[in-house]
Amino acid sequence: MKQWQSEGLVLRIRPYSESDKLVTLFTLEGGKVPALARGARKTRSKLAGVVDSFCRGDYLLYRGKTFTTIQQATLLEGFRRLREDVPLYFSALYLCELLEKVLEEHHPAEGVYRLALKALKALNDGELPRELVVRAFELLLLKELGYSPSLTGCVECGRREGPFLLSPAAGGLLCRGCLGQERGVALSSGSIALMQRILERGLGGLKVVRVPAAQLKELRQGSWDFFLYNTGIKNVKSRACLENLPG
Ligand SMILES: [Zn+2]
Repeated sequence: MKQWQSEGLVLRIRPYSESDKLVTLFTLEGGKVPALARGARKTRSKLAGVVDSFCRGDYLLYRGKTFTTIQQATLLEGFRRLREDVPLYFSALYLCELLEKVLEEHHPAEGVYRLALKALKALNDGELPRELVVRAFELLLLKELGYSPSLTGCVECGRREGPFLLSPAAGGLLCRGCLGQERGVALSSGSIALMQRILERGLGGLKVVRVPAAQLKELRQGSWDFFLYNTGIKNVKSRACLENLPG
């Protein structure tokens, strides 16, 4: 099938020539797809407003010998605030970069696609605190990839009472007695409860809650260690920009 249609999200855009853009699309039907948008850098191009950062669109694609090209595009959701507000922009950029790193080309990943859409929408609409959306997205992405941390007790001895550390090598919580040579991030009981709530209910099931900064920090380090250990990804450039945002 040389021509195909799918809805998709724009994960990344690079200028390709004076008038073309090279786009990384995350399509519902075909997963991650690098595609050429001919003429999209020209302001009068029909593709200009649809092939833009974080946009959700319906795309008609043609698989050529060298490139897949975007032949037509219809905008479904623009997520405009994500391009106008600096903290939101860097948050969305980070989500998209993380997706680009973990997704394989031409492998459909419907669960991840739905999660990405929910996260971008929650950021754009301001339904939940920005940092909570980012931390929940990281954790739920780990779950979709099959690396959900085990949080019900120490994975070695079954102990239910903390204190616990989160160990990527163990795949979940370890008590101090079982930690041995493993590295781990200390998690408070509040952080463990928050992680469990996120994993059970998903983004849609989270109410607007005031999460202490210390818990968000623990989640940030805990999830990140799981990513590094399980996916082999190393350098996510926008993460540094995001973590250095004021406030
Ligand atoms: Zn133990």
